[in-house]
Amino acid sequence: MGAGLPISIMEPLPERKQLAVAQILKQGRDTLTAVQTADPSAAKGRLREIRRYAADHLPLLLERLRQTLAARYPGLRVKFAATAHEAVDYVRSISRGTTVLTNNSAVVSRELKPGLLAAGFRVINSYAYEFETKQKGIADYWDLPRLLDRNLAVRFDVSRRMAGLEEAEVIREYTALLGVNALAAEDGSVFFLQHFTNIARDLHEAREVVLVAGLDKIVKDAEDALFQTQCMGIFGAESMLFEVQPGAGQKTGEAPGELPASPPGVARGLHLILLDNGRHDLLAGKYRDLFLCIGCRACNQRCPVRHSFAGADYVWTPRNYLKQFLDGKSSSIDTCLHCEGCRLACPLEIDLPHLMWEAKLDYVAKHRVSLGHMVLGRPELIARAGSMAAPLANAALRVGPLRRVMELVPGIHREVRMPAFHRETFAAWFARYGRKGQ
Ligand code: SF4
Ligand code: SF4
Repeated sequence: MGAGLPISIMEPLPERKQLAVAQILKQGRDTLTAVQTADPSAAKGRLREIRRYAADHLPLLLERLRQTLAARYPGLRVKFAATAHEAVDYVRSISRGTTVLTNNSAVVSRELKPGLLAAGFRVINSYAYEFETKQKGIADYWDLPRLLDRNLAVRFDVSRRMAGLEEAEVIREYTALLGVNALAAEDGSVFFLQHFTNIARDLHEAREVVLVAGLDKIVKDAEDALFQTQCMGIFGAESMLFEVQPGAGQKTGEAPGELPASPPGVARGLHLILLDNGRHDLLAGKYRDLFLCIGCRACNQRCPVRHSFAGADYVWTPRNYLKQFLDGKSSSIDTCLHCEGCRLACPLEIDLPHLMWEAKLDYVAKHRVSLGHMVLGRPELIARAGSMAAPLANAALRVGPLRRVMELVPGIHREVRMPAFHRETFAAWFARYGRKGQ
């Protein structure tokens, strides 16, 4: 069972579980004195050092971790997976049923879930199921309490420590697939950030527990791992408020239902997947800064287009949006407005807007500019032609077949109401009325 592997769970303190969201909202708005003051700049500085060390020393850390795990936790089943496909194959080989419960980590929901579904697994995000509050939901970023802007923070600390899997009265027949938040090479310590109870429950009940660590989660020692996980909680605390569903009983995810109990006396299994899936390549190229990412989702806090991705089949953040594109899993990076909101919010100052430009340039160099982009990329020419042809151009924009062509080529939906062209340009209008006003 991997006896002795140190597993720590961090939670927002002193509030716990269902209270957490309500407390953050309340502290942010009404009772500021109840919130611990923090120095976000100092925390960012230390976090940057931890992440740079991890990026610069990956082979060393990986070797150290391998030696540590083999020497101290011989019962732990460790799988090094070069690809998501290999990781899914491993899960298939050890799962006894087809039900997999996951946490909300991007490594599981973005990288492994598609392969699990294709392999016939029923995949349930137990975080989404548990996440609800009776508090008013957050409509958009202007509703956020903005704790860090005021040097305030929600405190996160270790609430539970385990050495391997604990004894459980009832073991249930399912596999828990849990993306870890940090893993220490020095002693194998695993850290999770938990807002409610889902991770603790899965560690306690699941017959097979698979810890999934992307190689970017490996840091030097337990102290760094703890700090990195704390930062993930502190900087990402407000992003989770976007997912709050107001009103009891309005769950965001599928319910796992009553999972069958295992026969008495069965042995549980603890596994660790170390997942590369392109991370080594990331370090070697111009998108290297993405390796620094801790997955806190703070970049989501000011993104004006995040609503466009409400239905995305992965944990939406600007960072994940870019990664989906780089991985060839989406064909567009055009929704980004390059407003810099994500860069300013990121505790590691990862320049996502710039990387999105780079990704776009790489894509265009490889695939050339599409006709649609050529048309929409020259709005001044469209405006000049439309103005010269007004009001005929406006009438043409109401013709069904033309709208269908516009939908096919530049991708403008046929139902969208287009602004009208005017024969007189703004410059001409201003010259006329501006002079009159003088
Ligand atoms: S730069 Fe793009 S991804 Fe980042 S916040 Fe602005 S619109 Fe969103
Ligand atoms: S890119 Fe986003 S998720 Fe990654 S560290 Fe920066 S804010 Fe957090």
